[in-house]
Amino acid sequence: MKNFILIFFLFSTVFLSGQEKPDRWCGTDFNQKMQKQLDDFVRDYYKNNNYERAAGVMKYIPVTLHLVARDDGEGHLTQEKAVLNMCVLNEQFAQANADLYFYIYQMQIVPNTAMSLGDAGDVGLYMNNQSLNIFIVNELPGLCGYYQPGGDFIYLNDACMGEDNSTFAHEMGHMLSLPHTFFGWEYEYEDYECNTQAPVNVGWNETELVDGSNCLDAGDRFCDTPPDFLAYRWNCDNDGFSSNCPHIDANGTPFLADGRFIMSYSDDNCALMNTGFSPDQVAAMHYNIDTERSNLILFNPTWTEISDSIQLLSPINDEQLEYRNWVRFEWAPVAGANRYLLQAKPGDLNNVSHHLDTIVEGTVFEDKQILLRDRIYKWRVQPLNEGFFCAPFSEYETFFTSDVIATNEISHITSFNIFPNPILKGENISISLNSEQEDNVQIQIVDVSGRILIEKNNIRIKHGENNLSMDPDPLSSGLYFIKIQNNNNRILTDKIFIQ
Ligand SMILES: [Zn+2]
Repeated sequence: MKNFILIFFLFSTVFLSGQEKPDRWCGTDFNQKMQKQLDDFVRDYYKNNNYERAAGVMKYIPVTLHLVARDDGEGHLTQEKAVLNMCVLNEQFAQANADLYFYIYQMQIVPNTAMSLGDAGDVGLYMNNQSLNIFIVNELPGLCGYYQPGGDFIYLNDACMGEDNSTFAHEMGHMLSLPHTFFGWEYEYEDYECNTQAPVNVGWNETELVDGSNCLDAGDRFCDTPPDFLAYRWNCDNDGFSSNCPHIDANGTPFLADGRFIMSYSDDNCALMNTGFSPDQVAAMHYNIDTERSNLILFNPTWTEISDSIQLLSPINDEQLEYRNWVRFEWAPVAGANRYLLQAKPGDLNNVSHHLDTIVEGTVFEDKQILLRDRIYKWRVQPLNEGFFCAPFSEYETFFTSDVIATNEISHITSFNIFPNPILKGENISISLNSEQEDNVQIQIVDVSGRILIEKNNIRIKHGENNLSMDPDPLSSGLYFIKIQNNNNRILTDKIFIQ
C-alpha cells in the first residue's frame, strides 16, 4: 500500500503537468439517509421488481454552479472552465446512456475566502433549492471533492476538474445516491492487502463474492458491478483491471478488480475506459430523482446543438485602436446561440489569464476594464445557450492599442450609439447622440483605407437626445467607420459593419 502511493505520486508528477491531485480523492461520507436510499432501491428494483427506469426518456436536471472566490472576488474558477466542466459532465453521462442531462440553472461567483479554502460553513447562504448545488473551490486540502448528504451539496477542488477528469461525475453519482464500487472498504480505514483472501466482513459490511451470490447484501449492492476492494487511488492495466493488485474473495476465488467505473477509485483514464456507470447504477440515479428529487424536473428546456462556427467582426486583423481604456467587441450571431462567452487578454504574454472572461447576451460588448497601451490583445468568443456547453471557441483575433491617447473627442457628447450594428443592406443607419450642448457637426462614413464615401454637413445637434438617420446605400458589405466632427476639429469615431 505504501509503495503504491509512492508509485502513484511518481506518476502524478509526470502526467499532471504541475497540478497534483490529492491521493485520497473523495471525502463523501455515506450516511444513513444514503443507506436508506440504497436499501429502498435494492428492495424496489431487485427484490420487488416494481421500479423500472424509463429508458430513452431524458431527464433535464438544473444545476447551480457556485464559483467560489476570495473575499475580493478573485481566484475563482473561470467561466470558461465552468462551461467546459458542464460539457465534460454531460459527455460522461451520455457515454453511460444515462438519459440524464445537466443544465446550468444559475452560475454565480461567491466571494467568500473561508469557503475558497475548503470551509463549507457558509454554504447555506448561497444554496439554491430549485437546483442541485455545486461549489467549486481552489483548495480542498487532501481531497478532489465530496458530496455532503446532510446539506445536499457538492464541493469540488478545481485541480481535479476539466477534460479527462471524472471527479465531477463521481460526486454527482454520490449526490444521486451511488456508493463506491468498493463500498465498505473505505470505513474503518481498512486497506485490502493484494493477493490475500478477503475477510467475510469489513467493518459492518459483507465483502462481495465473485460468484454474485451476495451481491444484494455486500459491496455497493449492484449486481452488475463486480467486487472491488481498493479504497485508495490505483492505476489499472491496459484493459482497465487491477493486474498489479490481484484480488481473492472470501471464498478463495481469485479475480481482478474492474477499474472501469467512475464510482471506483481507479485513475480517471481507467474510470472512463468503458461506460463509466453500469446500467443498474444508472437505474439507481433515476430512482433517486424519481423518489427524492422530482421537484427538480420542472420542464424540459429546449435547445439545439450549436454547430456553426463563429465569426469575429471587430476589432480584427491587428487593427490599431486609439488608446481609450475601453474597446468595443463585436461578432456575428450564430444559429442556436443566445449568449456568448467572451475572453480577451494581452496576446504577447504566455500564461497570462484572460482579464476578460464573461458571458454576454447579444453580440456586442464594451470592455471597460483597464487595457494597456501599446499592446497586442487577443480575444475570442464561444457561443452558448441554456443547455449546450460544448461548442468550440472561435480562433483568436487580435488588435493593437496605440500609445496615443485619444485627446480630440467631442467632450460634450456623452453617449454615441449606432444601431442596428451590423446593418443589413437596405436598412437605414440610426445614430443616437446625447449632447450636453448645441453644436454643428459633419458626419462622414469612411472605409478602412480612409476614403470618404458618404458625407453630410451642417447637422444641427441640440442639447439632450438626438436621433439621426443615414441611408448607407451604395455601400457594399464590409467594415466602415462613422466619423462625427465639429467646427473645432473634435472627432468621434465608431465602426459599423454592413452585411
Ligand atoms: Zn466517492
